[in-house]
Amino acid sequence: MLELNTAEIRFAIKAARQAALLVRDIQAEMVTDSITKGDKSPVTIADFASQALVSHLLQSTFPSDPLVGEEDSAALLAPDNRESLKTITKYVQSRIMNANQQDITEWIDYGKAPVSDRFWTLDPIDGTKGFLRGEQYAVAFALILQGRVEIGVLACPNLTDGNIQQIGGPGSLIVAQRGQGAWAAELTGSMQFTQLHVSGVTDPRQARFLRSFETAHTNVSQLDLIGQSIGVIAEPVRLDSQAKYSILAAGAGDALFRLISAKSPDYKEKIWDQAAGSIICEEAGGQVTDLDGKPLDFTHGRTLLKNRGILATNGHLHEAALQAIRSVGA
Ligand code: AMP
Ligand code: MG
Repeated sequence: MLELNTAEIRFAIKAARQAALLVRDIQAEMVTDSITKGDKSPVTIADFASQALVSHLLQSTFPSDPLVGEEDSAALLAPDNRESLKTITKYVQSRIMNANQQDITEWIDYGKAPVSDRFWTLDPIDGTKGFLRGEQYAVAFALILQGRVEIGVLACPNLTDGNIQQIGGPGSLIVAQRGQGAWAAELTGSMQFTQLHVSGVTDPRQARFLRSFETAHTNVSQLDLIGQSIGVIAEPVRLDSQAKYSILAAGAGDALFRLISAKSPDYKEKIWDQAAGSIICEEAGGQVTDLDGKPLDFTHGRTLLKNRGILATNGHLHEAALQAIRSVGA
């Protein structure tokens, strides 16, 4: 049984769930066949609405807790975005009746806090490209204490049973609290949590790799070389967002790689892109490091400044994967 024994875990679940249900509505209403390829407005609206809602809930529940969120309102205040702000306000009002435009921008900007000994970090929509394609995305929310992730929640509207990609299904709410395991429940159903465990695959050749859908977020040719050096048979599974961590935690994938893209060699991972997913993987029995085998270091601001890429595995395959990473110079 998942013990909902702290106010923090109860709050984290509630906030991520409410935000995910809001953005799921926005995806259903705005991401239609008629949107043109360059039109990013649905994700803009959903991103800001999600951060405004979570931020408001956080201030109401833990008024002295800071939020490190991905978004800030600067872009929204440009004259071109006035309509977007109206639409965001309308969506947030569907949950918080009296919210006005000023509240929205203030709530969003509450997420500009610096990191500290105790803070929450939010990716209001992780996997924006997946969201726009009508595919995978997640609301990712985590509590970080003294540089260590303590609670992580991923709310994934298009993932069923924490590991099956299903658009329009019940969705998944995946939760981990340090020392208490990783658990999944239906996002839209009753909160019946079942425990997640990583796979028992020990033969590297049997590994099922997980990678970003977007080729620009990883290094596909290096991943192919890693696969060849290990002798992997299966093609990597491609999907957006930290939903990958959930699939790994549920034992339906064995190794997740975030290699360094040749196009952005200096890219640093953002803390909100890894915090919730990494504790979920660890609490399911897996292992998470960077590509050099170093633990993720959440004490250096909004990015994982001291880490290079990410490797998450079921634990059994971690050494073999690190060795393959070294052998191909990734
Ligand atoms: P994914 O859906 O796993 O590809 O991850 C999406 C996240 O990748 C986004 O939230 C971005 O913050 C992040 N991202 C953006 N550019 C890059 C890049 N060049 N390399 C790695 N990750 C990136
Ligand atoms: Mg993200």
